[in-house]
Formats: sequence, structure tokens, C-alpha cells
Amino acid sequence: MTARILVMPGDGVGPEICREAVRVLETLAHDHGLDIELEEALVGGAAIDAAGDPLPESSLVAAREADAILFGAIGGPAWDSQPRDKRPESGLLRLRSELELFANLRPAILYPQLAYASALKPEIVSGLDIMIVRELTGGIYFGKPAGTLTNDQGHREAFNTMRYDEVEIERIGRRAFEIAGARNGRLCSVDKANVLDVSQLWRDVMNELAADYPQVSLTHMYVDNAAMQMVRAPKQFDTVVTGNLFGDILSDAAAMLTGSIGMLPSASMDRHGKGMYEPVHGSAPDIAGQGVANPLAAILSVAMLLRYSLKRGDLADKVESAVGYALDRGLRTRDIMDHETQVASTQEMGGAIVDMLR
Ligand code: NAD
Repeated sequence: MTARILVMPGDGVGPEICREAVRVLETLAHDHGLDIELEEALVGGAAIDAAGDPLPESSLVAAREADAILFGAIGGPAWDSQPRDKRPESGLLRLRSELELFANLRPAILYPQLAYASALKPEIVSGLDIMIVRELTGGIYFGKPAGTLTNDQGHREAFNTMRYDEVEIERIGRRAFEIAGARNGRLCSVDKANVLDVSQLWRDVMNELAADYPQVSLTHMYVDNAAMQMVRAPKQFDTVVTGNLFGDILSDAAAMLTGSIGMLPSASMDRHGKGMYEPVHGSAPDIAGQGVANPLAAILSVAMLLRYSLKRGDLADKVESAVGYALDRGLRTRDIMDHETQVASTQEMGGAIVDMLR
């Protein structure tokens, strides 16, 4: 059956990197029999300029109808002074919550060829391969009540609520156990159960689920210790599962272990395996339009799309191998340069991957 893929390039470097990712998809369709239909929709600042809304109804409908979404990046200084609901970011948040993309998968992989790019010593990070599974549609970012008020003493006061029900914990937990089972069978659940009631429930549900996944060994870690271990000995982690707030922070820390934001893909998935795939980085307005952005995060997002939504792990492996091979050949965009390698433009890097896939 033909898979419908919606491309949402967005702003800044989004369209540049998506162009290369689309070339990869088209090559797989042409040379490897991948059966897809591509469509494009506006999102973010580009959609505000064209339609006055960061997520126009037509884009939301197209996103609902697609089997998978390839997303570029949104945002930029031109829209920063807009009211919150008219900012590019609110388009992305709405898309995630409308599609119920509750499971965010963020791999932090350090290609051995790029060990020099990390701020940590190569022996600590070389060969790093962590998968962080973050709950994306609940927790303190969405919990009610939330707001600001003037309290009885006449002081300004603000509050947010961290809450999870067991159904939300179970669905992210099951996804994490499945992913850990398909990797090395080690799952670390990160919480703050020594202080927070919501974390105690999180831990209890994870322990209950463990009985259904005997092939996975489950451990628990408090979030403060996890932050410390992530920079002390990150290779001890394989798959990590955590809530929205802790996952936001830990996945950025893990990303930085790799030293190269231009290399990191991500997936956000619903309960049926439909996913939105996007680079971890933003719209990089400082380099937009110069043809220097690294397209590999977007291309590796295509690999995740193939593996998780289209169930074409064989083609995902091909894309990932092509990336490794390009790095072996010494090709580097400016963000991952060292002095012995060759500088490639966005288009040259994309072209190298396409050539290898052919
Ligand atoms: P950013 O990720 O856009 O950029 C951070 C730094 O990394 C910049 O120096 C940039 O040049 C560099 N960089 C990012 N992607 C790169 C790539 N592919 N190749 C080479 N270098 C790259 O983060 P920021 O500067 O904090 O944010 C810029 C805009 O992006 C803001 O409007 C922000 O709200 C938005 N943003 C969007 C998303 C998203 O779309 N999911 C995520 C984060 C930030």
C-alpha cells in the first residue's frame, strides 16, 4: 500500500534540510521500490505569513491524513514578538497534541568518526548510543491548574501542576519496553520518586509493566543522579524512559554529548505507530539561506520514519550506513568540521548520501 508522507519544511534552515531529506526518499522510491506519495504543507512562521495561523486547518487535516510526517524546523526572530498563540512554536505544540504524539524518541548517537566534536573525552563518549523515550503530551507542561495570581500578601505567585494518570504512564512505558526489547534489553526509568508523588506512581506502574516484558531488565534512577551519570559515564545507558520535564532536560544534555546538534534526529509517535519525524535542532536563523546547514539530522529522521512508521528497517539501515560512509570519506558540513576533513555544503552532503543509496 502506498504510504502518504507529509513534508512540513517550516522556517529558517527547515526548507533547506527537508529538500535533502526528500531527495533521499525519492531515491529510495526510484531505486529501491519504496512505495510513497509525498505532499507538502505549511507550518510555523511560513504559515503565519501565508495564512495568519502557525497551523492552518488545511495543514492539520493533511497531517491527520498522512501515514507519517517529516518536519523541518520552525521559528525565527521575525515572529518572536507575536502573541503566544500566533507564534510558530504554538503550531508545533498544537500539532503534537492534536495528533496525540505522546512518545518522543530521541536517540543520542555519537558516530566514532565525530568523537572529536564532543566536549567530553573520546573514551567516555565514542560509540555512544542512547535512546531517550520522553513522554510528550502530559506532565507539568500541560497539567492544570496552572497560572499566575496575586496572593493574600499582595505578592505575584505562579504555579504549574505535575500530574500523570496511570493510563498515560502505561502507554509510554509499554512503548519504552518494546523499544528496549528491540535494542539491548536494558531500560532505565528516570523519576524523582524520593520527593514527588507523581514519580512514585510512575515508578509503581513501570514495575508492574516489567512483568509483561521478561526480556527487558528494568532499573530506576533519580533524575538528579541521571543528570550526573549522563556526563560521568553515559555509555552505561541504553534505553531511558522518563516524563515530559525530565526528558526535555536530559535529552538535551545527551544530545550535547555528541557535540553536533546537526546530526540528531527524533520521532514523536501516537499509539498506532504514526509518527512525526524531525531534527532535534531549531530553524538556525543565523545560518539560514547560506547552504551550510547540516542535513544529516533530517536525513537520519527519514531513517527513523522508515523504521518506525513504514516498518522498513532494511531501508533505514541503508540510509544510516550511507551516513556512516559519507563521514568515513571525510565529508563534513561546517558544524562538524575538523581540520583534516572536506567542507561540504548542505546540498553536497545530501548529494553524497543520495549517490551512496544509488
Ligand atoms: P537552533 O537549534 O536553531 O540553533 C542553535 C545553534 O545550532 C545555532 O548556532 C545554529 O546555527 C546551529 N545549528 C542548528 N541546526 C544546525 C544544522 N542543521 N547545521 C548546522 N548548524 C546548526 O536553536 P536556537 O538558535 O535556540 O533557535 C532558533 C529558532 O528555532 C528559535 O525561533 C527557536 O524557537 C526555534 N526552535 C525550533 C525547534 C523546532 O522546530 N523543533 C526546536 C528548537 C528551537
